[in-house]
Amino acid sequence: MLNADFFRRWMTVTAASVDREAERLTELDSPIGDADHGSNLQRGFTAVTAALEKDAPDTPGAVLALAGRQLISTVGGASGPLYGTLLRRTGKALGDAPEVTGEQLTDALRTGVDAVMALGGAAPGDKTMIDALVPAVDALAESFAAAKSAAEEGAVATTPLQARKGRASYLGERSIGHQDPGATSSALLIAALVEAAGE
Ligand code: ADP
Ligand code: MG
Ligand code: MG
Repeated sequence: MLNADFFRRWMTVTAASVDREAERLTELDSPIGDADHGSNLQRGFTAVTAALEKDAPDTPGAVLALAGRQLISTVGGASGPLYGTLLRRTGKALGDAPEVTGEQLTDALRTGVDAVMALGGAAPGDKTMIDALVPAVDALAESFAAAKSAAEEGAVATTPLQARKGRASYLGERSIGHQDPGATSSALLIAALVEAAGE
């Protein structure tokens, strides 16, 4: 069973990983964006960890809802409302149970990813975070490790795609040949599940 501590660890491990990879995320956002993805997420996840320390929410749903709200209110870029929606809607789907199963997390994350697609209008293949998140959720039924690999493969697979959503889509064919920054950060978010689980 996964309790509030696990979900807090998921968020703090993600924050540490975003800190470590911020420069790389911003570099990926240079040729096909506005070179701010790393700093956007760093600002957002710094606020998430501060809020979790201050408020200490005691259910999985409340941890993710608080994290989502922080991302929405602190990240200016497109990724803030999108990641914020992902976490808020996943949290809402988990309800107020003190502990949840891996299966419940998988179902809730699917609801969250669907909400991101509804908000941003992106489908798989549009060269966005969705290209990492959808395969990750599909693989999550198997294990956190399988989800991590699926997200990483999904992120790498955005390179040959032409962007159809977000800032990179303004470049048309010139967006081809670059890995999507948001799909890359989504892979970090999913990889953090493995570490939070101590696997
Ligand atoms: P901005 O483009 O506003 O500067 P960021 O650089 O923080 O925002 O985030 C860019 C990332 O957000 C992209 O790499 C992409 O993965 C994701 N993204 C942008 N628009 C959408 C969308 N409509 N649906 C899903 N993801 C999107
Ligand atoms: Mg950007
Ligand atoms: Mg920006």
